[in-house]
Amino acid sequence: MRYDKVREVDDAVADALEGEDERQEDTLAMIASENHASEAVLQAQGSALTNKYAEGYPGSRYYAGCEYADDVEELAIERAKELWGADHVNVQPHSGSSANMGVYFAVLEPGDKILSLDLTHGGHLSHGHAANFAGKLYEVEHYEIDPETGRIDYDDLQETAAEFDPDMVVSGFSAYPRAVDWEAVQAAADAADAYHMADIAHITGLVAAGEHPSPVGIADFVTGSTHKTIRAGRGGIIMCDEEYADAVDSAVFPGAQGGPLMHNVAGKAVGFGEALQPEFAEYAAQVVQNAKALGARLQEHGFSLVSGGTDTHLVLADLRESHPDVSGGDAEEALDEVGIVLNANTVPGETRSAFDPSGIRAGTPALTTRGFDTDDMETVADCIARVVDNIGDAEVYAEVAADVQELCDDHPVYD
Ligand SMILES: *Cc1c(COP(=O)(O)O)cnc(C)c1O
Repeated sequence: MRYDKVREVDDAVADALEGEDERQEDTLAMIASENHASEAVLQAQGSALTNKYAEGYPGSRYYAGCEYADDVEELAIERAKELWGADHVNVQPHSGSSANMGVYFAVLEPGDKILSLDLTHGGHLSHGHAANFAGKLYEVEHYEIDPETGRIDYDDLQETAAEFDPDMVVSGFSAYPRAVDWEAVQAAADAADAYHMADIAHITGLVAAGEHPSPVGIADFVTGSTHKTIRAGRGGIIMCDEEYADAVDSAVFPGAQGGPLMHNVAGKAVGFGEALQPEFAEYAAQVVQNAKALGARLQEHGFSLVSGGTDTHLVLADLRESHPDVSGGDAEEALDEVGIVLNANTVPGETRSAFDPSGIRAGTPALTTRGFDTDDMETVADCIARVVDNIGDAEVYAEVAADVQELCDDHPVYD
């Protein structure tokens, strides 16, 4: 019924949309960057605001007819300020990567130097990977995760900053299970007289709810995605002190983007409003409890976790010792067959390749949205272990697939 209008004109797309809805209902979304936005957010994102050009910012647009566009953008900004306590917020970036582009364009020149965590250690493409615009425009050096502890080597960060003399230090990660010490990163940036951008893409929701320390007020710039632990639909956000407000706003528009995606800005406003409700704090706390329960049970099954556990929404398992004959890719593929959708991931001290690495990354934000508790997460961990312990065993796969289906049936995504 949801796609009745699409169905009237386009069976092929309607089939794909309905197929995706069923896929999300019948599988466990454990990709750590994913979540399920509410139907209210989906409705706002599917609104007629997709038709509206609103280049500029509330109150000073380049087009007429922006009164409702102004309303949703102001609501999104005010709610974001309340959630994260930032002075200035820009809600127009199309994605987390675009938010990072906005910050770089605000204060860096091509050829300037960025110091960030290596992608294979848990960084992000937009932190300066060679294949990304950031790697092409800027000179990039990396700090590392200590392979022994699985944690950021803050001493290495300090030393590398002193040697490399960066213009910007980037913190915030895609596959890091531990709380980040923002002050320690800031100290390294200060010593090098560099800007500090904290990219909280993965942990926006945890930071908003106080489940992870906040870099707001420490780092010069805080960027994020709005579709990960905060369930506000696909997009990006930039937060900064008032002193950088104009530079950031003009770097996003007209610097990096044209018209904002006002339907997605409306989604952000609705999702941020939801996150201001008391239930959201309970949700975020449960996300972390669930990740801890998942990790502890996997450890009972013999899995080795990078850093020995988690403080966040994700666990990173290094299969090299527990399952030397199983690559991350093998595990990802086998788990996908039973309806557990997660991703292969590099681990610190990676000895395989980025295309078929040694680890798997599993997150709890989406399952927690479906109402999974710590008991359910232990069942999920048991399912993961049975599959990874029995790669290629069709009988085991069938049994686990039935258990996964039962978990899904008990916890519908959308009623
Ligand atoms: C997910 C992520 C981003 C942004 O991703 P988009 O897909 O562009 O929204 C940026 N930084 C980090 C660390 C991330 O994990």
